[in-house]
Amino acid sequence: MSSYQPPLRDELKGIEPYGAPQLDVPVQLNVNENPYGPSEATVRDIADSVARAAATLNRYPDREFTELRRELAGYLTPDSGSTPIAPEMVWAANGSNEVMLQLLQAFGGPGRTALSFAPTYSMYPEYARDTNTTWIAGTREEDFSLDLEKARDLIAEVRPSVVLLPSPNNPTGTALDPKAIAVIAEALGDSGVLVVDEAYGEFRRDGVPSALELLSTYDNLIVTRTMSKAFAGAGLRLGYLAAHPAITDAIRVVRLPYHLSAVTQAAALAALRHREELLAKVDELRQERDALVAWLRGQGHQVADSDANYVFFGTFPDRHAVWQGLLDRGVLIRETGPDGWLRVSVGTPEEMTAFKNALLEVVTP
Ligand code: PMP
Repeated sequence: MSSYQPPLRDELKGIEPYGAPQLDVPVQLNVNENPYGPSEATVRDIADSVARAAATLNRYPDREFTELRRELAGYLTPDSGSTPIAPEMVWAANGSNEVMLQLLQAFGGPGRTALSFAPTYSMYPEYARDTNTTWIAGTREEDFSLDLEKARDLIAEVRPSVVLLPSPNNPTGTALDPKAIAVIAEALGDSGVLVVDEAYGEFRRDGVPSALELLSTYDNLIVTRTMSKAFAGAGLRLGYLAAHPAITDAIRVVRLPYHLSAVTQAAALAALRHREELLAKVDELRQERDALVAWLRGQGHQVADSDANYVFFGTFPDRHAVWQGLLDRGVLIRETGPDGWLRVSVGTPEEMTAFKNALLEVVTP
């Protein structure tokens, strides 16, 4: 093959595609998946639903995924306080990654700025790059919280069109102070939207509210969720958001027609019918998470508070050596975020035991 150089955009030259290593090891705790797969009954219902959809594949699917929007709205409503989520407030795409790319296509773009606060989810700057949106990252405090005064000043200075804030944050696991939503949504006013990324929202600790409760207060607030984590549906690729209907209408302008295949819609609807089973492990994972935080602290490690299904801990003078030592023992975790820190997903009790034993061998307390 000749060494052909395609005429790539300058800013994409030499860039490696994003992605955690996909290594076939016994204990995979690196991408915050749910360790529990679906039951046979759920698998059968998904397969039957997909088979029915397959018989219609000569036709394009429902472009507005009406039934799925209705079901997702019904699922979100218990978290939204006193105001129900209406189907026209819901939008979905192939993973919340795609939802956020569509948001930047609609609200970012040349001459516009997207803002977040580091350390945070490493895909955000990539959505900005891919949509030609200027990317600015403010900073977080030592405990990974936001200084709201500083955040307000930065917003006044850079006038972002989009602010992206995960709650809980990835990789730190820390939830957003509900006051932050009010301060930032008000600071943005009509010139920007605030995206609260609740990819891991279902894992939040008792007493931590969802940003969904504030949707009726702030027209410029967007709350994103995904079926990849709590719902045990990472392979399904179904992310979604709730926001003012004017926001979902705006996304309809930039979405590709029929972006959600009939197969995806059928599988997602079937998974939603089995939500009780698929979400049943969330409480167990939260308890396992709390136990892991306590254990790591007991071992003398620094551990960020976690409202997610992963735990951020450190700090190690050579974190790569720790990561490699665990991998050599069949345990894959994630080397991400500020230097010295590592992130481990919460798995089954057996996987947690394997992780702890391996860590004890690699790191002498
Ligand atoms: N937001 C955050 C904070 C994440 O950690 C992830 C996945 N790691 C996503 C969004 C995207 O998830 P998905 O595309 O699977 O919905």
